[in-house]
Amino acid sequence: MEFAVFAERADEIESTSADLDIVSLVRDLFRVSAEDLDTVARFVQGRVVPAHESTTLDIGPSLCYEAIARAAGHNVSADDVESRVAAVGDVGDVAAEYDFGGQQGLGAFGDGGGSADLTVGEVESELRDLAAAAGSGSQDRKLDLLFGLFNRCEPAEARYLARIVLSEMRIGVGEGTVRDAITEAFDVPLRAVERALQVTNDYGLVATVARDDGESGLDDLRLEVGRPVQAMLAQAGTVTDAVDSWESVAVETKYDGARVQVHYDGDAVSLYSRNMEDVTDPLPEIVAFVEESLAVPAILDGEVVAVDDAGDPLPFQEVLRRFRRKHDVAKTKEEVEVQLWAFDCLHADGEDLLDTPLEDRHDRLTEILDSGVSALAVTDDADEVAEVEAEALDAGHEGIMLKDPDSTYSPGRRGKEWLKRKPDVETLDCVVTGAEWGEGRRAEFLGTFELSVGAGPDSFETIGKVATGITDEQLADLTDLLEPHVLAEDGKDVTIDPAVVFEVGYEEIQTSPTYSSGYALRFPRYLDVRDDKDPESADTLERVERLADGE
Ligand code: ATP
Repeated sequence: MEFAVFAERADEIESTSADLDIVSLVRDLFRVSAEDLDTVARFVQGRVVPAHESTTLDIGPSLCYEAIARAAGHNVSADDVESRVAAVGDVGDVAAEYDFGGQQGLGAFGDGGGSADLTVGEVESELRDLAAAAGSGSQDRKLDLLFGLFNRCEPAEARYLARIVLSEMRIGVGEGTVRDAITEAFDVPLRAVERALQVTNDYGLVATVARDDGESGLDDLRLEVGRPVQAMLAQAGTVTDAVDSWESVAVETKYDGARVQVHYDGDAVSLYSRNMEDVTDPLPEIVAFVEESLAVPAILDGEVVAVDDAGDPLPFQEVLRRFRRKHDVAKTKEEVEVQLWAFDCLHADGEDLLDTPLEDRHDRLTEILDSGVSALAVTDDADEVAEVEAEALDAGHEGIMLKDPDSTYSPGRRGKEWLKRKPDVETLDCVVTGAEWGEGRRAEFLGTFELSVGAGPDSFETIGKVATGITDEQLADLTDLLEPHVLAEDGKDVTIDPAVVFEVGYEEIQTSPTYSSGYALRFPRYLDVRDDKDPESADTLERVERLADGE
């Protein structure tokens, strides 16, 4: 396809406002794209290479302005172009103002510029050459190539070349438009197109397969080791949401690091960030770990966490520093150690697992990876969820993730299947009126504290128990604080004189026969001791009643 034809169609699309009309125009464009369909499907979105390719053009605005100025002739400087862009607001419109066709003999191809035969294929291959230019002198080479292209452009073509090069297409074509246009152009089901896009992340490939091999061709597309897919994402949610929506809840640690997708072909490892950037080089220890510990070719999803000398997690900024320091890995490696926690398995030993339920994918993950696998607890018991959360927080992690154990892996989806536990909505100041001695390594400490609220002068009614969110160190301090107030002991159970006030977070208040107040806190979590409050100034049953009524 001639690039001029592409530009003409792009103009038409840009001047159309109704979404449905845009889809029809893109559909028609795809139908006439012939052997350039692959490229056209990307160019309409202002992309040169598929999203999964780490290649970047690495052209900043100044290099683009310089190329435009050179093609425009002796009287125009890059500064002039820059000021015009500042005034007009769009690099494409500015590029279209110059008459490159007038530069007789200056074109890289010596054809006098303005040649009508610049094709979409040529633009793509020149831009790929440009992307491949590396090392010393690469900026000059990029400039030469880009100048050569502009020099062959008519104004309408220059408009879109400039926009593609700077990834600012702005003709109103988003991913959804392209998806719908492929569906309409080649009469294939939307579902098949969506799935194919999820597994390949390649609009050009999906458009071509839809046209050449139809629905069955799309269905045959598979994940490929070395071709990253978009990460499945989470919504904020509560334990209440999870236990109310699913038969059981898969709960695991939420690691505070950076998302990483691990690809292992049985020989080489490549690692991709959440944006599908190649981050293999900055993470040599993870590469070594995967080579040693992963039994079969696979694609895994996980989190890379920075740890201190004792193996305790460090804030996620430490990992991001590593990602940024692509060129000085040895130095960063000395500074901070990183570790992989894998929590999902998308592909194992030739088998795609996207449609396999989460719990089974996790089982497969455990089979193929020796260590560094998240512990996934599947339970319908909210107390167990609380325990996992306490352990995760205790170990210095960010919190917990709640997942539907039956859910499939949907790349790029932010649905209700994965919930990141939201911080508590409300807090209450409760009086501690009882406790239990702990077990095992916590036998020396009081734990599981009984919480009460004021119900009148010197009168307290129970509303829940809290065991979550407390570290060993805090338990020791709380035991010292509460022991002097112990009134009676019966086995492990301890009655405590109302004296100490806890600030407690919770998700919900519900009516309950379990506690004397008639209410129960759902998922209470210890936050702090309110040293500044005495039991009389703690929260009251009256306030709890109001909160429960949603006031
Ligand atoms: P968002 O994903 O909402 O844009 P974000 O990148 O700041 O925001 P969070 O919202 O805090 O991330 O939580 C989701 C992220 O948590 C995931 O993308 C992943 O990197 C991380 N994570 C840590 N542990 C897990 C786990 N066990 N399962 C899934 N994701 C996890």
